[in-house]
Amino acid sequence: MSATSGTPTAPDAPPTRLFVNGAWREGGDGSYPVVDPSTERIVGRAPEASAADVEAAVAAARAAFDGWSRTSPAERAAVLDRIADVLLARNDDFVPLLQAETGATIRVASAMQVPVAAERFRRYARGALEPGVSALVPQPVAATPLAAGGLTSAVAARRPVGVVGCITSYNFPIVNLAGKLAPALAAGNTVVAKPAPQDPLGCLKLGEVFEEAGAPPGIFNVVTGSGATTGAALVASPDVDMISFTGSTAVGRRIAADGGHTMKRMLLELGGKGAGIVLEDADLRAAVAAIGSAWSFHSGQICTAPTRVLVHESRHDEVVAALAAYAAALTVGDPLSPDTVVGPVISALHRDRVEGYIAGALAEGARLVCGGTRKEHADGFPVFPDTGFYVAPTLLADVTPAMTIAREEVFGPVVVVIPFRDEEEAIAIANSTEFGLYDYVFSADTARAYALAARLRTGHVGINTAQRNMEAPFGGFKQSGVGRDGGSYGLQAYSEVQAVIWAC
Ligand code: NAD
Repeated sequence: MSATSGTPTAPDAPPTRLFVNGAWREGGDGSYPVVDPSTERIVGRAPEASAADVEAAVAAARAAFDGWSRTSPAERAAVLDRIADVLLARNDDFVPLLQAETGATIRVASAMQVPVAAERFRRYARGALEPGVSALVPQPVAATPLAAGGLTSAVAARRPVGVVGCITSYNFPIVNLAGKLAPALAAGNTVVAKPAPQDPLGCLKLGEVFEEAGAPPGIFNVVTGSGATTGAALVASPDVDMISFTGSTAVGRRIAADGGHTMKRMLLELGGKGAGIVLEDADLRAAVAAIGSAWSFHSGQICTAPTRVLVHESRHDEVVAALAAYAAALTVGDPLSPDTVVGPVISALHRDRVEGYIAGALAEGARLVCGGTRKEHADGFPVFPDTGFYVAPTLLADVTPAMTIAREEVFGPVVVVIPFRDEEEAIAIANSTEFGLYDYVFSADTARAYALAARLRTGHVGINTAQRNMEAPFGGFKQSGVGRDGGSYGLQAYSEVQAVIWAC
């Protein structure tokens, strides 16, 4: 056990502590249990931050802002690089903790958390430094003649926003936080983080990494607890300049409204209901592999998944059969087994919610092709363990765009198939939800897919791939969010433009 935060923990271990101003403190409102979604056992206790804890964290970030924002890009880059070094060196400490609190498969917990988070710190260490790439380099503005003679010249300089409250979702706790923290710090801001209540222990442990890396106290603070208390206190604080939020559209709306009272800058990364459009000329093997991997990855708890598979009617039956075969080949169960692809979802509450969506779809007339139950015995599916919040990978056909399952985000291993007659209909269905995060087009004709992409009301379009590009701008259209990060867009997101004008 660490002598600092108190992680990793056991059921009877004392609660972990909050990380505020480079020091560890008890949660003013006590603590609550963190549960392993695969064993249903308590794996630790997280502090419940009080309003005073949030205030202290914001005050620490405010006090640290002046010094940190005036450090040189090279100094900031050095700190971020050291954080990446320490994170990678301590990967083995993080993996069991992150695996237990998220229920992720050991493959995902090992490869997709600390290494990806460390890469984000490296990326923005470089970002702070690169002239011409960094959004922080002042851009010259054209000189303007004055009526009285002479000229004014100007530059558009980027300045840090100030204190940033980072409120994150549960699915990839460290990665989601690092994706905000690294560009925010690189741009000269200071941060108060509020991780998801289900799995906050790894994010608290990040405090140890900052300590070991010798980061200045107060530039990064972590407060844990519920959204309604800890999160809301951060959003309400007049001393927080910006909220960077990843989570559901419903909570995003609430945060946008609450933060509006103090005119906070907002980066909102919200829910999705991606369309995977399979045109009649698509390579079905590649399309099914891409859709299947997104469907099963992290038990479908990813915002970018193509959960609505729109298929040209001439290929519909082939795609349904191929997706069902894909699901039947997935190993579902114990996340600690290296062969497991699909583990549990995050909580009993969430499992019940996912099951509710499946039951609702069947009641509305959808056809269950596979999955749909907690314990799937048929067609070679494994029998799940007795404990754990498992949902079998579920495929629903005979779905219409008007059904609830085709309109609302499920955030679990559930995919629906909807046929279309022509491109016009495919576009209309794809654009018919309130979301606009990530769509996909599968076609042998890339020019045709590119032209179709222009008509999709979505922040991203993957053509024949479900792979992300971390340098590409990331964010949503419509109710999938506000703002962009990713690559150099991340530096812009965490800075404000200031015009500096002089007579010449
Ligand atoms: P959630 O919206 O339930 O919670 C997200 C965070 O908001 C948590 O830390 C929660 O405690 C906090 N919160 C809740 N109410 C709050 C309030 N009133 N004020 C302040 N904070 C509050 O989301 P979740 O269940 O953790 O994650 C799943 C959702 O996240 C899905 O909708 C998914 O699509 C979305 N997501 C989006 C992206 C993206 O980049 N667009 C990435 C990952 C996840």
